[in-house]
Amino acid sequence: MTAILYSGGDVFDGTGDLLKDHAVLVEGDTIKDVAPAEKFSDYQGERVDTSGGTLMPGIADCHVHLVYKGEADPRSSIEGVNPGEITLRVLENAQLSLKSGITAVRDCGGREYLEFPVRDACNSGRFFGPNIMASGKMICMTGGHGNRNGRIADGCDEVIKAVREQIHAGSDLIKIMATGGVMTPRVNPEDAHYSAEEMHAGVNEARRFHKTSASHAQGAEGIMNAVKAGITSIEHGIFMDQECLDAMMERGTFLVPTLAAVQNILNNADNGIADYVVEKSRRVFEKHKESFKMFYKAGGKIAMGTDAGTPFNLHGENAMEMAYMVDCGMTPIDALKSATSVAHGLMELDDRGQVKPGFKADLLIVSGNPVDDILMAAAKKNHRMVVKNGQKVEFP
Ligand SMILES: [Zn+2]
Repeated sequence: MTAILYSGGDVFDGTGDLLKDHAVLVEGDTIKDVAPAEKFSDYQGERVDTSGGTLMPGIADCHVHLVYKGEADPRSSIEGVNPGEITLRVLENAQLSLKSGITAVRDCGGREYLEFPVRDACNSGRFFGPNIMASGKMICMTGGHGNRNGRIADGCDEVIKAVREQIHAGSDLIKIMATGGVMTPRVNPEDAHYSAEEMHAGVNEARRFHKTSASHAQGAEGIMNAVKAGITSIEHGIFMDQECLDAMMERGTFLVPTLAAVQNILNNADNGIADYVVEKSRRVFEKHKESFKMFYKAGGKIAMGTDAGTPFNLHGENAMEMAYMVDCGMTPIDALKSATSVAHGLMELDDRGQVKPGFKADLLIVSGNPVDDILMAAAKKNHRMVVKNGQKVEFP
């Protein structure tokens, strides 16, 4: 089995402080040893020089939509498009993510399960790509957020049936919509959509089949409905209040903030995005950042996610979310943990996301020290090398 020693620079292992002048020994697809570089002074095998840089775990993005490329109007960009072409876009977006240091993604809403064969091909190693978890169709109420491309279901029985359909089709997790959102016309992000009973029925059905669940939840009432139902992660969490915060802390519910989503809409407000999307983004932007700060200050579990695929929120730029979180007061080391060990924890990829013996060698080598300057890891121009399952990532 080929062994490679990465040495010369520093290591961030995904959980602790920066390890100065440490080396990492990889054998095949697995990390064998992490230790001060002098331990390997007699090592004769293949080396990768990490001098002046930091080796860290590959990044996991817990909220992407691989069927979209970040068009101004993502949904219409796939309307009437040949399913084969959509499938190729999914693969393209997945590989673009991997090239950019994103070694795992959680797809939170696709199109007619076209993302599933790409997931299987990447996870099995048939194609080079990140580890992919996928929810299948978003489950939403009649007229609710996501109703133009999700699985519409009303009432507890129908919600349960919709969950079973996703599981039967091969979903890894269930995505269920608790509130209105920014991207759907004629709905308010503030309003609860599914009732507490419907939400409980859906989440419980997912749990019966050992699936985690993620809820698009922006307004406080919808967040509470999802948290009380036992949801694994709250996506966005924009109008979180003290009651939501307390309930999430008590149950250990993850928050996946996706600050990049609203940020990129506002940065491109004049680039063809529908007026109602821009208006709602302006309405929620400050509150979103406040909720993030409140949850972070309380010590809540924040897993990095971007909502990549939404307008101008590009696959391949995912790591910038760490910089947005730091802009909102998170320390760089906590942003790095959020994007590595915490995010892999939410995805239950228990042998990835840390640079420790026994973990799979999904690695990102960056210039400089990202614990001092998050842009070293967040801006891909500072990335030097991506390693997936022990292999250097190279695309033609
Ligand atoms: Zn989303």
